[in-house]
Amino acid sequence: MNKEFETIGKLGFGFMRLPMNGSEIDMDETNKMVDAFMEKGFNYFDTAYVYIGGKSEVALRESLVKRYPRESFKIASKLPLWDIKTKEEIDKIFNETMERLGLDYIDFYLLHSMNLDRFKQAEEMGAWDYIKEKKAEGKIKHIGFSFHDSAEHLEEALKMCADDTEFIQLQINYIDWESDNVQSRKCYEVARKYNKPIIIMEPVKGGSLVALPTKAQDIFKEVNPELSIPSWAIRYCASLDGVLTVLSGMSDMAQMEDNLSYMADFKPLNDTEYKAIDEAVKIINEVPTIPCTNCKYCVDGCPMSINIPRLFSVANQNKKFGDESKKPYNMRSYKDATKDKGLASQCIQCGACEGHCPQHIEIIEELKKIAAAYEE
Ligand code: SF4
Ligand code: SF4
Repeated sequence: MNKEFETIGKLGFGFMRLPMNGSEIDMDETNKMVDAFMEKGFNYFDTAYVYIGGKSEVALRESLVKRYPRESFKIASKLPLWDIKTKEEIDKIFNETMERLGLDYIDFYLLHSMNLDRFKQAEEMGAWDYIKEKKAEGKIKHIGFSFHDSAEHLEEALKMCADDTEFIQLQINYIDWESDNVQSRKCYEVARKYNKPIIIMEPVKGGSLVALPTKAQDIFKEVNPELSIPSWAIRYCASLDGVLTVLSGMSDMAQMEDNLSYMADFKPLNDTEYKAIDEAVKIINEVPTIPCTNCKYCVDGCPMSINIPRLFSVANQNKKFGDESKKPYNMRSYKDATKDKGLASQCIQCGACEGHCPQHIEIIEELKKIAAAYEE
């Protein structure tokens, strides 16, 4: 592994869920969190052009770049390609990032949230050429990408850029290790096959692995009552070989202190702990969910443009990780799933979808329950 990579701490500070005062970042709390993180010898900070509407990069400049020697930290930021059409726009965004961060050079620069289609787009726009030029100029130290697609597509993407990319950022967590949609294990294995160091994002699945079913929490508490529930998710990721760092999007000092308590003197999971995780995964996966396979056969015929499988996926997340007696914890996912699409309550019960469903799901009834939970 690159010598510089070996200096990176196993815990990375994700600057996307910072403490807020209304719509502004709480800089006092952020500064305290940065100080605590640095004091324990950690040094990797992850932001992106789009995080908190651009305020994340500025906050990093104020709390880190202006207050610590340049050689004491590493900063990663990301280029969003989804709203970009030309190389000139890439140049504008990169320069804006550097200005917001107050940097002459950036340590890690990633193409953000890539999938196979975006790789093709990146090739057409010359995005790789652009970041390679910046690397040659010394403005970027290391280039890579964050990835949200299947392992098969990751392999295809790597065929295009394996010589250029120095690392890959992947979504890995213990509940998605064997899942069909996220494919953590398969993506991890592809990255390892190409000998690419891995940065892990979403180790607690956007907070889902904090609020586990009580039976799953009990398993962890029995093995070690001192360890927090999220610690199991972070240590699971940090225990994997070839991992540069595990990003944690900490939102307050309590979360920072919890993470530091087990990561400052990191110990990989032992056999008993792996067994406990296997048991917890079994319990989480036993929670009854809507048996939708995301085949999408029901989607095209819906006159109300309801994204049925996506709503079922949102509802299933809540069944597994939420408390159904309370308001759904993932209301934001529902809002995203219904943006420019029909609401569950807009179903006119025409029945066009149900005849297409190979799983014989009572779609109309399920949508009624979803509407009641998410819209009332
Ligand atoms: S029954 Fe509801 S969800 Fe199904 S096709 Fe008709 S409007 Fe869409
Ligand atoms: S047809 Fe059935 S299984 Fe397929 S996406 Fe629609 S609800 Fe899910």
